[in-house]
Amino acid sequence: MKGFHYLAPTEMVFGAGSFDSLKDQCARFGSKAFIVTGKNSSRKNGALDSALRQLPNAVVFDDVQENPTSDTCNKGGELCRNEGCDLVVAIGGGSPMDAAKAISVLALNAGDCSDFYGSNRFNNGALPIIAVPTTAGTGSEVTPYAVIINSSENKKRTISGQDIFPKLAILDPELSLTMPQSVTANTGLDALSQAMEGIVSLKSTPLSDLLALEACRIVCEWLPKAVGDGTDIEARSQMLYAASLTGHVISQTGTTLVHGMGYYLTIEFGIAHGLANAFLLPPIFRHNAMYLPDKVAEIARALGYVAETSAEDSGEKVVEAIYSIFARIGVAPAAKEAGARLERLNWCAEDIINDKSRFKNQPGEFSLEQVKQIFFSAYEGRI
Ligand code: NAP
Repeated sequence: MKGFHYLAPTEMVFGAGSFDSLKDQCARFGSKAFIVTGKNSSRKNGALDSALRQLPNAVVFDDVQENPTSDTCNKGGELCRNEGCDLVVAIGGGSPMDAAKAISVLALNAGDCSDFYGSNRFNNGALPIIAVPTTAGTGSEVTPYAVIINSSENKKRTISGQDIFPKLAILDPELSLTMPQSVTANTGLDALSQAMEGIVSLKSTPLSDLLALEACRIVCEWLPKAVGDGTDIEARSQMLYAASLTGHVISQTGTTLVHGMGYYLTIEFGIAHGLANAFLLPPIFRHNAMYLPDKVAEIARALGYVAETSAEDSGEKVVEAIYSIFARIGVAPAAKEAGARLERLNWCAEDIINDKSRFKNQPGEFSLEQVKQIFFSAYEGRI
């Protein structure tokens, strides 16, 4: 077995109603909270009202859009500093959680968001973060990453560092009950993608594989139920738990080419983050099966092909399994159905092939022609 390093420092509180402990939890980390959230969802699910009842002196920053930009984070950082807040509370999906992490850095470090892309590029630490996920997909509540669109170049960049691991994650499945079917499906597919990518990543570890395979099993069983009945609290709980497992996974393994290429589908065509990744899973995992057939076979088995998948047919089986999940949640498995445009795909492939950072955890070799074919397959939905 090869050696590995494993770090998961975020404390977790999990359970229906656990958000009611926000006041007591905040008191452990600071005295004036800066709440970072989106425009609508935290009002819809009652989280913002509850937070303000519990923390009457908190300052609210609700400007975070989907896929947050550096301009938004800079604005939030300035407000947080000016208000003298000493703790950041993120309420929402991956977007508010990531913006909150960037803001926690900007509150203590002079500079612009873009000064901090990369690993541990800030010297003065970050404000403590409490993360409260209201989607079940990114696991950002337990990761050391903030994924931000750099406004000047319109590309996704990542701030990473141990100081932005949230100190505490409060996982209350009741806050996810208001997710509409599409958000439930898209974010659940992101969890699936993170689990699958973590298993094949060059940085995978035995421990992260264990968590990722369990996440695959949970998503396969419970995502269709959560999409089918949004009021099913057990399904919501299972998906919140699975997403969090995948956050632990990618904290160790990073993501792979699926996320790297998925960013293009999001930025170029406005396709939701998790859905963009999911379109790329079949072609990229067929490719992965050439390099890691045993691991891909394990994934196919976790997704329902109990005992009948061999290394030789792992590529075909995993692709079938992914399309079967698409069918069970009622989502068309083709990027063209979600707004992708064929004429931009060559450019996307040419751009990403020159960005080596997108391939750093990805097994196997890729030519420009293969990357183009993967985009075209994701577009058509069949290989
Ligand atoms: P999101 O962008 O945070 O939210 C998507 C939509 O869902 C928004 O319209 C949001 O509304 C709504 N929403 C959130 N919770 C809801 C609820 N309980 N009820 C109803 N609507 C709700 O989606 P996400 O997929 O969770 O996050 C995606 C972002 O996370 C991307 O930027 C991605 O790059 C990043 N990401 C980060 C990591 C990491 O480790 N840091 C990992 C994976 C992905 P409001 O805007 O009104 O809140």
